[in-house]
Amino acid sequence: MRGTERVWAELAPAALLYNVAQLRSRLSPGCRIIAVVKADAYGHGGIQTARWLSRFGVADFAVASCREGIDLRRGGVGGRVLMLCPTPPEEAELLARHRLTQALPSIEYAVSLDRRGIPLETELIVDTGMHRLGEDYREADRLHRMAALPHLTVTGTFTHLGQGGDPAVSREQLRRFASAVDTLRGRGVNPGRLHVQNSAGVWSLPGLSLDAVRVGMALYGVRDRLSEWEQPGGPRLRPVLSLKTRVIQVRRVEPGEPVGYGGGNAVASPRTAAVLSAGFADGVPRQLARGGLVLINGRRCPVIGVCMDMTIADVTAVSPPVRPGGVATFIGGDGEAFLPAEALAEAAGTVTSDILCGLSSRVERRWLPLD
Ligand SMILES: *Cc1c(COP(=O)(O)O)cnc(C)c1O
Repeated sequence: MRGTERVWAELAPAALLYNVAQLRSRLSPGCRIIAVVKADAYGHGGIQTARWLSRFGVADFAVASCREGIDLRRGGVGGRVLMLCPTPPEEAELLARHRLTQALPSIEYAVSLDRRGIPLETELIVDTGMHRLGEDYREADRLHRMAALPHLTVTGTFTHLGQGGDPAVSREQLRRFASAVDTLRGRGVNPGRLHVQNSAGVWSLPGLSLDAVRVGMALYGVRDRLSEWEQPGGPRLRPVLSLKTRVIQVRRVEPGEPVGYGGGNAVASPRTAAVLSAGFADGVPRQLARGGLVLINGRRCPVIGVCMDMTIADVTAVSPPVRPGGVATFIGGDGEAFLPAEALAEAAGTVTSDILCGLSSRVERRWLPLD
């Protein structure tokens, strides 16, 4: 069947390895990479991505849920795996059985988890200004009580940057984090490993040497917005994922004729339209029909309609002429042309991670060889 699928993501382990090396070159020698592989490694395929990362020497992972953690273990992934979101306390036994580390967002949650009476490894979340999860950095008593629960062992303490790309905001969050850690230490609590930076934070807080960084985007070689990380000395990374589909039909459309549903996109002059075998049920955003592009035969072609299983592109200007069976590229390179995932996200009015996480299970994940 190879080569005949409707739609597939090509994944380059060499790019993943390159990005790991780029990150390591930015980090102090003892600083570890916690690879964030939640949401199926941002659509790249969680288990396969974690396996490659293990091969590249990464031994620390983070996911959102206990289910994702168990999937990694069943896929043979070892090392430390941190659950970033609260696991229902009724599932404490699963955390223990699969040696998963649970992040603690509040004293109330920590108490309900501790009540199960199961020894667990945990990490404290400190809220330093994002106001998502965690106890406020000034709440010394509540932080201390989380750390003092009898069945929970604290193996780490972390905070999350709300604006990782903004050095001033991030430095203030870092200062608040440091004060919370000092307070805990002053009360005799060992906070375990300390980590603050996400991908953008690695670049906005250079030279910071805590015990680890928690990175997703940088590993996958993408940014949420084209503008992000664009400060001097910003990252050179390689995107891991390309998204490709096939041309299934090529047809002529006469002036005044509509294309696709609703008759919304009547053409003004004779056009050649290519029908592609990927649509919004695969993760191609419907908004691409207003200003989005796809590469065919190395040319940028305007998208004129996105349906559930198919997309229609205007290929009038493409030569040699587009033929059924040809490849169309939504993300990645085709000849000299390249469409970054960031551009697709921008055309769809969203962020890159939203696009990548939205690639559905119908998209076959195809890992290329390492070189
Ligand atoms: C998703 C997530 C990350 C990874 O962020 P990137 O921007 O992809 O590097 C880090 N920390 C937490 C708590 C997260 O939820």
